[in-house]
Formats: sequence, C-alpha cells, structure tokens
Amino acid sequence: MFGKKKPEVLVVGAGPVGLMAALELTKKGIVVQIIDKEWQRAGHSYALALHAKTLKIFEHLGLLDRILEHSHKVRSIGIYDEKEQKAKINIADLEEDYSFVTVIRQNILEKVLEDALLELGVKVMWHHRLAHMTASETHADVIIDKLETDTLGYIISRTEQVVTKSIRGEIPFVIGADGHYSFVRRSLDINFDTVGETQHFAVFEFKTDVDLQNEMSIAFANGSANALWPLPNGFCRWSFQLMDTEASQESRIKERYEVQIGTGKYPKLTEEFLRDMLDSRAPWFKGKIEEIRWRHMVRFERRLADSYGKYTCWLAGDATHMTSPVGIQGMNGGFLEVQDLTKAAAQILKGKESGTLLVEYNKNWLEQWRILLGIDGRVKAKTAADPWIAEQGNNLLSSIPALTEDLSSLMQQIGLKI
Ligand SMILES: Cc1cc2nc3c(=O)[nH]c(=O)nc-3n(C[C@H](O)[C@H](O)[C@H](O)COP(=O)(O)OP(=O)(O)OC[C@H]3O[C@@H](n4cnc5c(N)ncnc54)[C@H](O)[C@@H]3O)c2cc1C
Repeated sequence: MFGKKKPEVLVVGAGPVGLMAALELTKKGIVVQIIDKEWQRAGHSYALALHAKTLKIFEHLGLLDRILEHSHKVRSIGIYDEKEQKAKINIADLEEDYSFVTVIRQNILEKVLEDALLELGVKVMWHHRLAHMTASETHADVIIDKLETDTLGYIISRTEQVVTKSIRGEIPFVIGADGHYSFVRRSLDINFDTVGETQHFAVFEFKTDVDLQNEMSIAFANGSANALWPLPNGFCRWSFQLMDTEASQESRIKERYEVQIGTGKYPKLTEEFLRDMLDSRAPWFKGKIEEIRWRHMVRFERRLADSYGKYTCWLAGDATHMTSPVGIQGMNGGFLEVQDLTKAAAQILKGKESGTLLVEYNKNWLEQWRILLGIDGRVKAKTAADPWIAEQGNNLLSSIPALTEDLSSLMQQIGLKI
C-alpha cells in the first residue's frame, strides 16, 4: 500500500510524540509508516524543554549527544512572588543519570527525531492526512488522503489543500499522536472532556544582557503563573498568563515557517506590553530587552481523554491530554507514554502478549493525568512548609518541569506532597 513492506503500525502525526513512537517501534523491528497532514515540521520553539527523565530515553535512542549539542542546561528552579525569590528547587539533586533539564527548541528536537528515523530508512509521509478510520478487534481500516498545496488567484493569492489521491488500507495497529484535535480519538468516539480552566499565555523570546545561568523561574503574581526560561546564545523566553485577554482556538495550530515579521499575528504583543508585564509580574528581573525574535499568544485548555484507545488503535501525547505550558509536561508526558505504548504494541504484534500491557497503559496514564490535572486529590503541605508555598501547591504541580516520581521528589524539597 505505502511502500515495499506492508506497515504493521501506522503512526498518525509527526509531531514530537509521533516521531518518537515511530523511532521506538522501528528500533524494535516493527515496520512503521508515519504520516502528517502538514508539509513539514513545526517552525518554532513551542514546548522547549526535556525533563531529566526524558533525557534517559534520548540516551537509549542514541540521540543524547545531538540533543545536548543544541541545548542549554537548567539545574535549578527559582520560585518567586511579585517581589522576590521565595524558594529554590535543585533539579541537580534528582536521582537520575542526567539530573538536569535541557532547553531545546521544539523545531530542532523534531529535526533530530526525523533525521534519526530517516537514518533507519523511515521517511515521514508529509502532506498525508488520515481521512477515515474504523477500528475493529483485529485491525483498522483507514483512508489516507494525499494532499497538495494549490495557490489560487493572482491578485490576492491564497493557498488551499487539494486531495490528489486517496489510499485505502488495512493496518494491524494504529498510534494516534495527532495532537489535541485528534482525528484518531474522534474516530474512536472517545470523549475529551474539559477538566479545568482554560489558560491563555503571551510568550516572548528575546535577547537579554542578564546571565540567567542554569536556572528557570516560576513567578506567581496577582493570581497568574508566569515562567522564565534561559535559552542558548543569551536569549530567554518569558511566558505570561493573561487574565483579561483570550487567545483564539487557532493559536494551537503550530506554524511551519520559522520567520516571524514584526508583531506577526499579535499586534497587542508590543515591546511596551512586554515591559508592562515585566514591571507588574517580575520587577526582580533586571535584564534588558535587546531583540525580540518571536512572540505569540496561545490558548491552553485543560482536557483529558476518557480512554487511551480501543481495540488496535491507541493514543499518546496531546491527543489524550492538554495542560498548562509552564512545566512542559504535555510533550514530556507524551514521550513517557510512548515508551509504554510502543512496548505493548511490539509485543502484541510479535504474538508475545494479548493486550494486558494496553490495559495497564490505559489505567496508569489516566491515573497519572487525573492527579496532574488536579481531578484526583490535592497537593498537601508538610507542617514545616512555607505558608505561601503551601498556597501555591496545586499551581506548582503543573508548573515544575518533571513528572512521576521526579515531580514528587522535587516538590518534597519545598515541603509539598502529592
Ligand atoms: C503556539 C504554541 C505554543 C506552545 N507552547 C508550549 C509551551 O510553552 N509549553 C508546552 O509544554 N507546550 C507548548 N505547546 C504545546 C506543545 O507544542 C505540544 O504539547 C506538543 O507539540 C505535543 O506534541 P504531540 O506530538 O502530541 O502533538 P503535536 O505536536 O500537535 O503533533 C500532532 C501532529 O499531528 C498532525 N495531524 C493532526 N491530524 C492529523 C491527521 N488527520 N492526519 C495526519 N496528521 C495529522 C499535525 O499536523 C501535527 O503535526 C505549544 C503549542 C503551540 C501551538
């Protein structure tokens, strides 16, 4: 159907999570086809950090050196109120082989993964959209549309996607890593309920003269959560939660061009706006604004799928959960999910397992996200904890760049218990 060998797994979506799923399966000897409806990778940073635990996965994939070459290490987290630092967490104290977080642009990360796949002979089929899927206990019937971009009109030109061919196929196993508006999830009739308040963020990347060294900062000011990340080459990223402005639904569509001209689609995000934000949310930040290279406004809903899949069609990444951007938990959670899902898929396809691992996958990850999204339980403070920190407990849960036992251990450093 697609190439010389019939694919055993179809991965839908070549974002970071789908690329990793395809790589893991290929390394396990499974024949994979990966498709994406867009024409190339993301153009910008978006989710910009890899957690300490995620680095171990990149080591096992043989890609850690390539990642570290393009990244900046973060070894601690400063926690601030409107005025000053209230606490500090040492990522360096984690019991991990790599006890730091790395900051790497999502477009570079996706390139590293796509290149590694290509080296194993798997080419992403860009411009191919899953248009139909019916799942059964033995396989999925799919229709994939091959797209082409057509430029229409000559006075005001606009582009449109045109279907040039439709491919039908029967696939033994499908992984839906097709993002928050997942077609795979919708085809399976899996609900994606809202479980918390939608947050809106203004994000700026700019050059500054202050040396942020190896610390990221989380600033809770006037009821908002804000984050500062050091980036390579003297740049930094500030994300400010907006309390009175809403970003549109389309803001979650990843742009594929790298260059942004002026304020781009966001005229409100001027340098003056950035200065006002810094003055009111983080007066302790003394860095200059030297060159703004990227700005955007983005909407982050809080949602959780009510199941991770059915039959032979399973989901991972943003297709199953949407959360706050501060702790980069969405993408890193997707990478951890892929470890479990690809292990289960490979065993099933090799006839070594009948589905117990998928039942566990569904149960474990739903439980994890129900805690992370604040549906089950609340963060508790130990008696010795600073009262201000104790008040921020649930906000910190979604803001610290870690998951599972690492998140518990980092929160314990400031007297909080999940
Ligand atoms: C503007 C913006 C800013 C962000 N900032 C942050 C941040 O600060 N922190 C943070 O943690 N996260 C952030 N994110 C979210 C982060 O990018 C996602 O969590 C991450 O990309 C999830 O990866 P994924 O692979 O699960 O899904 P995605 O990266 O969304 O990839 C899904 C892929 O599936 C493809 N696809 C969809 N439908 C189909 C179909 N029918 N057929 C074929 N292909 C299909 C899409 O084209 C896409 O390439 C941001 C996102 C945006 C858009």
